[in-house]
Amino acid sequence: DHPPPPPPPARRAPPPPPAPGDARPAPGEGPLAGKVVVIDPGHNPGNFKHTAEINKLVDIGTNRKECDTTGTAGNAGYTEAEFTADVSQRLRTLLRKEGATVKLTHENDRPWGPCVDERAEIGNKAGADAVISIHADGSGAGNRGFHVILPALVKSGGADTTKIVTPSRDLGERVAGNFVRATGSAPSNYVGGGTGLDVRDDLGGLNLSTVPKVFIECGNMRDSKDIALLTSADWRQKAARGMADGISGFLTR
Ligand SMILES: [Zn+2]
Repeated sequence: DHPPPPPPPARRAPPPPPAPGDARPAPGEGPLAGKVVVIDPGHNPGNFKHTAEINKLVDIGTNRKECDTTGTAGNAGYTEAEFTADVSQRLRTLLRKEGATVKLTHENDRPWGPCVDERAEIGNKAGADAVISIHADGSGAGNRGFHVILPALVKSGGADTTKIVTPSRDLGERVAGNFVRATGSAPSNYVGGGTGLDVRDDLGGLNLSTVPKVFIECGNMRDSKDIALLTSADWRQKAARGMADGISGFLTR
């Protein structure tokens, strides 16, 4: 609708001073001023209703793969897509407070997707200084902990990760280290041999990236202890804090 414009204020009161702890640098200020971070919330809550669209194959350089997937869910129904949207917004808030320019690959603005190739392209086109794709895993009960996924050296078709392998490892190591510190969670007990790091060549979002990028699997939604953490808003805030500190350290290295 088109409400009429409000009447002009008679007299403008001076803005109140910022509350302690609420200080946010003006645009262009803060340690991350001028830095661009793209956050990719894994999956999309609407993917469950658009299986035909997300099952279409896209080129990821090494081969063709589904456009996107539904993602996993906890046994009581909390979906990975809900989780990734929440953590992504928390992370954006933290990074903006440090002055970064932050873009999400999607946010309630499309019924499904984007496809994995488009997710990579969004980071590339933004000229991102760092990209993080946020996920939670769906593994067997008893498998616990987080891991960060780094791009392998891939040179095939439209994929060439030559330039991003080294900086992405640096980014990923910083995210992993800060994630442990901020959440108190241990690295994965089922991937990465206790390092919290894994290297993969089968993810389009990494293969097609031309800017430093990592994935993080924050925990296992199918494990009762991990899902208790993943469904806790307090824990998700700590998770976002760990990611923000890792990204910030990488961008100010
Ligand atoms: Zn996922």
